[in-house]
Amino acid sequence: MEEYEIIIGLEVHVELLTDSKMFCGCSTKFGAPPNSHICPVCAGFPGVLPVINRKAVELALKTATAFNCKISPFSRFARKHYFYPDLPKNYQISQYEEPLAIEGVLLVDNRNIRIRRIHLEEDAGKLIHPEDSRSFSLVDLNRSGVPLIEIVTEPDVRSASEAEKFLAILKRILEYLEVSDCNMEEGSLRCDANISVRRYGDTNFGVKTEIKNMNSFRAVRKALEYEARRQIACLKEGRTLRQETRLWNENLQITEEMRRKEEAQDYRYFPEPDLPPLIFDNKIIEEINLKVGELPFQRKGRFIKEYNLSDYDAEVLTSKKDIADYFESCVEKGGKPKIVANWIMGDLTALLKAKKKDIGHSPVSPEYLVQIISMIEDGKITGVVAKMVLQECFNTGISPEKIVSERDLLQIEDGETINNIVEETITENADAVQDYKNGKEQALSFLIGQIMRKTKGKANPAVVRNKLQEYLNKKR
Ligand SMILES: [Zn+2]
Repeated sequence: MEEYEIIIGLEVHVELLTDSKMFCGCSTKFGAPPNSHICPVCAGFPGVLPVINRKAVELALKTATAFNCKISPFSRFARKHYFYPDLPKNYQISQYEEPLAIEGVLLVDNRNIRIRRIHLEEDAGKLIHPEDSRSFSLVDLNRSGVPLIEIVTEPDVRSASEAEKFLAILKRILEYLEVSDCNMEEGSLRCDANISVRRYGDTNFGVKTEIKNMNSFRAVRKALEYEARRQIACLKEGRTLRQETRLWNENLQITEEMRRKEEAQDYRYFPEPDLPPLIFDNKIIEEINLKVGELPFQRKGRFIKEYNLSDYDAEVLTSKKDIADYFESCVEKGGKPKIVANWIMGDLTALLKAKKKDIGHSPVSPEYLVQIISMIEDGKITGVVAKMVLQECFNTGISPEKIVSERDLLQIEDGETINNIVEETITENADAVQDYKNGKEQALSFLIGQIMRKTKGKANPAVVRNKLQEYLNKKR
């Protein structure tokens, strides 16, 4: 197998995170009843006029900028003609010879994968094949006209796992820029791949096949691994490969022939006469540059340097823009970076997960989290109480300082008070005391636990431990 080199190019379709469709005002919300988000424009009625969605263009420009593409000063929409029941106009508005952006690059593990082009287009509708009928299909046009960008790479990817990594990085950037929710189950991110193999040293490309119907990053990797094996086996047996489109069969874990591509389909492209060209001057491109700002990998590098965080912490904190923003907001308000990081990645994330909330909608604001952290640092509350306060603040939205004062949660450090509790506990737990005297160290933890329970976690654990040991050793 090693004598063959694998050549992969990817085509990624991404649904843009706009409220309305590409050329009309209909909602793009996923999951509505069939055909409830349609109008004469996206249902393909004759005589209607499309209008370009400004937000969609802006999101496409942000993507192009993030991938270091050249943004075309002049680009144009084109009609791509083909007949299919989910395409009511019998043509799709796309871009052909004059795409929005070209010649970008994405770095994957220190290898440059070149981006050939990024263009804007509209999505088609969706066919539904009811199980009880073999004689008809239904069409849902809610998706018809949803804004898409297509990102096409050069054939620079050299393995199935590299393809998977490329997609993971692409997804992270698109989510970070809030260009798309990249939800593969809902079809917001879809990937097709071209793959061929050749002997190492060959300069010509081999015969390529196009693989479709891969519904997860894992499926992309599995399908490409399978297809590379199939092509290599075929060549080794002396058979010739056919240029064709193949579908990934997730159940059987194989690719299957869908259609041959003996001649390229003629889409009869021509410039869309109902839409103006897109013209961008340097000023617009600079504005977009500013809006894109720092990308996740750059921010991660800065977090490591500026806040002295570990690679792992910085990776988690910059995995989503709202997490990184929350973290920096806490630090700005005076939280120590490493301590803030621990609270976000530990207790806060657990609470958010349980309630299925984003950190951007956390009832515990950065200000409140910093209040909790400061109260621990100032010795006002114990770590145990802090966790309780966080939970209470999360559930009620009441400020941590108010929770602590109203519920009398201040730390007990006073030696006299702690002495009394220690004495009381020792009297009540004669067995544990005996165990400790017999050399069972765990008995000490048990006794500390009893004291913490009595004080509802408010006693200073270090003081408790000292006092307790003092008493026990005295009586030994
Ligand atoms: Zn519409």
